[in-house]
Amino acid sequence: MGNGGTGLGYRVLFVTPLVCDPYSMQRHPAAIALAIVLVVCFSSVRAETDPLDGFTVEEVAPGNHVHRGSLDDRSPANAGDQANSGFIIGERCVAVIDPGGSLRVGQALRAALRGITDKPVCYVIITHTHPDHFFGAAAFRPDNATVVGHENLPRALGQRARPYLKSLERDLGDLAAGSDVVPPTLLVKDEITLDLGGRTIVLHAWPPAHTDNDLTVFDTATATLWLGDLLFAEHTPVVDGTITGFIRVIDQLAGIEVRQFVPGHGRTALPWPDALKPQQEYLQLIVRETRAAIKARRTIEEAVDTVGLSEASKWAAFDRFHRRNVTAAYAELEWEE
Ligand SMILES: [Zn+2]
Repeated sequence: MGNGGTGLGYRVLFVTPLVCDPYSMQRHPAAIALAIVLVVCFSSVRAETDPLDGFTVEEVAPGNHVHRGSLDDRSPANAGDQANSGFIIGERCVAVIDPGGSLRVGQALRAALRGITDKPVCYVIITHTHPDHFFGAAAFRPDNATVVGHENLPRALGQRARPYLKSLERDLGDLAAGSDVVPPTLLVKDEITLDLGGRTIVLHAWPPAHTDNDLTVFDTATATLWLGDLLFAEHTPVVDGTITGFIRVIDQLAGIEVRQFVPGHGRTALPWPDALKPQQEYLQLIVRETRAAIKARRTIEEAVDTVGLSEASKWAAFDRFHRRNVTAAYAELEWEE
């Protein structure tokens, strides 16, 4: 299946002269029929090509393997593969970080993991409550791994799991099958350290920022920080917690000594902590312009139509998320002291 596209190309090239040449068409009706069958047949093979063919992971630091999700909207073309995800391999076992946006994505991540190590998966860490990060957790049920999340994660999942699943089924159809919420059984209040054998990872629970249940993972052996959606690269940042809290948390993150880092979406060539700046500037601009709009007694609709538009060319999926961010910022800032 992986080479379906290439195969189609060769076969169409081979049969095209027969179809286009009138002499050949008269002399070789059977060939014409064959050509049509081949084209129809291989077109349908192509249509059924697994959207996760070509799923890859890259080792960004020793033992830290990252898969980059798509920046596009969720659709059958990406099977919900939108968030960055990956795993850290210790001497004893493996910790998966964000198992992806559908069972299919989780299975692809698990297959990629099994292509690299046969060590057991002992932890599946969910960085926060958004469905593009956690719906793949069901793929790791056979591993009996401990599912880990922020202490606020169960409440957030309880509120949104059902509408999230409906929306996944609407967007992915059959490709959503088997995607499910796997509740965390190990909750992080402030900070905990997990031992993967000869390697420890530190999980930190942050105050409300991108959501009210953001968790980061720090691999101490390589100083690699997995940020979940506390860092967006390329993709428009999303505020689903508090915009002022998000800005404060980013300031704190900038003080951490980090050699390598993994955003929740996209990639950046900027070094740490400069990589945090584009997102921080975007959020600060929204706060500044929204405060000005409120002070000028502009309505929320007027604010949404004007605030932050100078950022539009810098981010993917801007139309989909920016107005929502301004709406959330307005509601948050309207009655501040
Ligand atoms: Zn998120």
